[in-house]
Amino acid sequence: MAVKIIESCVNCYACEPVCPSKAIYAAKPHFLVNSKKCTECEGDYPVYQCASICPIEGAILNSLGEAINLPGSLTGIPPERMAEVMAELQGH
Ligand code: SF4
Ligand code: SF4
Repeated sequence: MAVKIIESCVNCYACEPVCPSKAIYAAKPHFLVNSKKCTECEGDYPVYQCASICPIEGAILNSLGEAINLPGSLTGIPPERMAEVMAELQGH
């Protein structure tokens, strides 16, 4: 059982020091989780420490491959509204 950091990670370093298992490390092109070390914070914290500090929605996935911070969960902008605004900005 381990979480996964994906390509939308912006290499902000926030998650690396808060991991109780020292499972997160800087790599190219983005931070990664050592799946052998990640304990999903079990026994240390009630929530994933990495995801609780990560500023990017969807950058960290749970062991089922689901985003831990869902779209809109950090910005407060509903995903449908975000899609509309992006379309407007792109002139569609
Ligand atoms: S879920 Fe917990 S143990 Fe796993 S990488 Fe994130 S902070 Fe570390
Ligand atoms: S906190 Fe999120 S964006 Fe920052 S390095 Fe970790 S996974 Fe990447």
